[in-house]
Amino acid sequence: MKKLIFASTLAMVAASASAGLYGDTPDATHAWAVHDRNRPNPVKIVAEPGLPPSDAIILFDGTEKTFANWCSMKMEPTKWKLVNGTLESVKGAGYIRTKAEYGPNFQLHVEWATPVKVEGVGQGRGNSGVFLMNDFELQVLDSYETDPAKSPNPNPNYADGQASAIYGQNPPIVNASRGPGQWQTYDIVFHAPVWKDGKEIYPGTVTVFHNGVLTQDNWEYEGPTYHMKRTVKKQPATKAPIAFQDHGNPVHFRNVWLREIPCRHANTTHGGPDVKEADVKALRHKIAEQLFAKIDTNKSGADEVNAILEVISYCKAEPFCGACKKICGAYIARLDAMDAAALEKAKGEIMGVKKSCDVLARNKVVENCKLAAKINEIIKARGWDKKKK
Ligand code: MG
Repeated sequence: MKKLIFASTLAMVAASASAGLYGDTPDATHAWAVHDRNRPNPVKIVAEPGLPPSDAIILFDGTEKTFANWCSMKMEPTKWKLVNGTLESVKGAGYIRTKAEYGPNFQLHVEWATPVKVEGVGQGRGNSGVFLMNDFELQVLDSYETDPAKSPNPNPNYADGQASAIYGQNPPIVNASRGPGQWQTYDIVFHAPVWKDGKEIYPGTVTVFHNGVLTQDNWEYEGPTYHMKRTVKKQPATKAPIAFQDHGNPVHFRNVWLREIPCRHANTTHGGPDVKEADVKALRHKIAEQLFAKIDTNKSGADEVNAILEVISYCKAEPFCGACKKICGAYIARLDAMDAAALEKAKGEIMGVKKSCDVLARNKVVENCKLAAKINEIIKARGWDKKKK
């Protein structure tokens, strides 16, 4: 019940123009206040169980139409087959790639199955791979049973080469593999390395859920996938195809979709590793302008006071400060003109304005505020600061 009451209180606060300020105000590295009602809401999408999100790019859904999204690495027609709504790798056909390029950051969903008929051993059993940005392989392999002591037909392997490994670099946290012929899922969050002035300033990262289980936890790439020696890091492309490996085994793929996502390093206006104070200041000024345009500066009610104090919380430049002095000065005059009955009647709005003043004072946006001093004087004189017995 408490949670319900809290939620409805927040809803009322959000709906009221004169609710006043609360939380922490914007600062040098955060353009938005805590619980900021002016911060844009995320775009609404449809996300139903088992279906691609409505904003996903469908790379392959089993149809001829989406099969046409794919080609050989030489951009020629692929020799992979469309079989019963799946993509089947063909020995000797080479890798398959998307004709279009994506990146540098994305969420990728892939479903795959190694052959029902178990053949080969080690890297020769159900081997394929998901290549990201042309350089980074997330291994696909029959890794269902790897322990010779527990299985009559195991496929033991080196740890950094089994299913869900970042090939040659990092084994999965656990082996979440399903059996041969069973459909398995990879849900991948990939962020390409960030380079600046010819140097890598942040490594690329990948997070992988294999069959819903976290197997790669924000792994930082040491560089592109290597096999026999460490590869020198190189500046990645901005966009690149998604590719699947032909390793000689008939591996199947289905339900492949992708969502390009923003990189936290591109965020320069709110927290994050690359926040720039100049960008924060510019955005705060822009929001202040937008809020200020809605205020009738010839009025001096509690709504106008709270609204101009909110503007000041974003930016203390002119004409905002001048308007703040005018509106707050007029509000003080109104308070001075009120008799005891009028003050009691206006107690709620006065206490609301006090909250706004308190937020600005606590965050050191405004100090020695005449309006706050006036309200505190009234509160003391009226005994509003004393608890009821
Ligand atoms: Mg492979």
